[in-house]
Amino acid sequence: MERIPYFDLCAILILIFMLVASIFRRMTKGIINRYYIDVVVISVAATVFDIFSIYIDNAAIPGLHFFSVIMHTGYLFMHNITTPFYVVYIIAHTDTFHKFGKLHPETCFVIIPSFIYAAILAANIFTGWIFYIDDDCVYHRGPYMIVFYMLAFAFCLFSVIYLFIYRRLFNIKRFIALLSIFPALGAAVIVQFIFPHIRIEMFAVALMLIFIAMFIHRPEEFIDYETGLNKFSAYAYDMRKRFSTDKPMDVIMINISNYLPLQELLSYDNINDLLKVVAGRLSIICRTAKTEAYIYYLDKGRFRIVLSGSDRNNTNYIAETVNAALKPKIPINNMELTLLAYVCIAHCPDEINDFDMIITFGKDLSSKFPYTGKVMFAKNLLENTRYDLVGELESIIERAADENRFEVYYQPIYSVNERRFRSAEALIRLRDEKYGFISPELFIPAAEKNGSILKIGMFVLEEVCRFIAGDEFKELGLDYIEVNLSVIQCMQSGLAGDIIAMLKKYDISPETINLEITETADSNTQTIISENISSLLDAGFTFSLDDFGTGYSNMQRMASLPLKIIKLDKTFVDFIRDPKLNVMVRNTVKMIKSMEMEIVVEGIETKELAEMFKALRCEYIQGYYYSKPVPRDKFVDFIRESIPMDKRIVKSR
Ligand code: C2E
Ligand code: MG
Ligand code: MG
Repeated sequence: MERIPYFDLCAILILIFMLVASIFRRMTKGIINRYYIDVVVISVAATVFDIFSIYIDNAAIPGLHFFSVIMHTGYLFMHNITTPFYVVYIIAHTDTFHKFGKLHPETCFVIIPSFIYAAILAANIFTGWIFYIDDDCVYHRGPYMIVFYMLAFAFCLFSVIYLFIYRRLFNIKRFIALLSIFPALGAAVIVQFIFPHIRIEMFAVALMLIFIAMFIHRPEEFIDYETGLNKFSAYAYDMRKRFSTDKPMDVIMINISNYLPLQELLSYDNINDLLKVVAGRLSIICRTAKTEAYIYYLDKGRFRIVLSGSDRNNTNYIAETVNAALKPKIPINNMELTLLAYVCIAHCPDEINDFDMIITFGKDLSSKFPYTGKVMFAKNLLENTRYDLVGELESIIERAADENRFEVYYQPIYSVNERRFRSAEALIRLRDEKYGFISPELFIPAAEKNGSILKIGMFVLEEVCRFIAGDEFKELGLDYIEVNLSVIQCMQSGLAGDIIAMLKKYDISPETINLEITETADSNTQTIISENISSLLDAGFTFSLDDFGTGYSNMQRMASLPLKIIKLDKTFVDFIRDPKLNVMVRNTVKMIKSMEMEIVVEGIETKELAEMFKALRCEYIQGYYYSKPVPRDKFVDFIRESIPMDKRIVKSR
């Protein structure tokens, strides 16, 4: 019966289209893409052999006997190695090559099977066990052709089992797309087995490869258009997968700490050009080091390079080279830009073993650690912090809320003009049964993420109100308590109403509370924030701007807010010791004063620093120099002690 070539002709068109599309859609980097392209290329070759064999078979010219053997052998070889390649493609999706130890899956599933197929097919030329071409140049299946079917079935079965073992690594869409190739291929194989003249198998393969490309290889989901690197969603997907299979890897974190000010300053095109330059440098460094690296651009000037396997031997070299490569000025559109890049190496899973932890750790290295200009090591930075509990923070917060484990501490604030403690800052504390004391620096961001900050915020406010309403407070002669408001709280439209109601409940005046807010770069949320602020202002509250001098400080926005006090952050305050930065601190103080706002200097630990800021006529000083934040009773004792004998109010009994 005449063989039908049309399915193969369609298949070849589809496959070539897929190849070209893969290149245009930048689906060429990374092992998943590479194995996909391998499968497409092998399928093209199989289809070409099949088309030739069909025409030769149909012509049935005895002189073409030799060509017929070659074409059928080529087809069977290429077609049969697609399934082993698909196995490796599936393993690449699970990113579990490391699970095979020294036996690389490519050796087990591609190289060895290819040799076996090649050997069987070579032997077949003499034995005719798989197929033979008779003297009339007619193709016949041999007695052991079934072995090929069985081998293909075994590889498919392995892939399916492997997919099910690592089911949790895939979302349902990907899982079904990867699995769907098997029933479709199975149906095509059965049809072609029963009706050998209907050459439909390669067409089925081509359709399935299109299907996979549509559902799985979606660069728009994973590739950052501007830098051409993998984007945050790819990082999250890949890292979750790697952590869940304990894959050993090194992560080089590159955070451009002055990205936000640069973004403010530069045009959209310029900032993108800058990111492209950095992305280009990272790619070149990895390429010249002959290292298979995954490079990601997360956002806000944060890049990540992930190395695994033997490429980890190059981690230090790459980190050092990147650090050196980002130091020289970068020319962008007639400007020369200097980057302040933090480069930090984390060995995973030894030092960081959890997705949330690596995200939290790498988020704002610059606000947690001083810039040294050298490559940093997560191991050293982690020694003093409790990132080990990041993954558990949400449950710790819930537990603390259920068991009333939150407590409010108070840190006195000294008034330089009045030479007495005029106020205090309320600071939340959390003591967990398992982990002990946990810093608010760590749990406040987690509470902001899951919304529990709203409850925590109201808890702090209520404790403060209860304190102010009590008799002790009047005795201490304090004017007000400063309460921190999280941006998340400020974004709630009911915030002003809730705060006012709380003060009514305890019958205290709004002048006894000063609300600390922080700057936010996000203008979308600023309308609700402004509405809250103006309602609270109308009700008689005053505001401080907390953490001035860290990260994002927009002077215009600062000037437009109705602030009574600016709180200089410790990192900014410490600049005063630096001969150059000293000028900046002094002028900032001058500027704030000329805008008629008062200044609280935070983080003062020594007499020397306290004197420096007193000399600058800053109104208030807060810091360990006077007292650490302490529980309410201790705080009351501390303030009582600080009041001169003649001014103490003696409680009548
Ligand atoms: P913040 O509001 O800037 O609070 C000042 C932080 O500086 C406090 O850290 C305080 O203990 C620390 N500090 C004060 N003096 C010194 C000093 O002399 N040297 C040093 N090294 N540190 C000093 P703490 O209590 O760990 O709080 C950290 C941050 O957590 C706070 O920074 C604030 O942003 C947040 N936070 C604390 N309590 C609350 C709260 O009730 N609500 C909200 N939303 N955030 C809170
Ligand atoms: Mg504060
Ligand atoms: Mg502060």
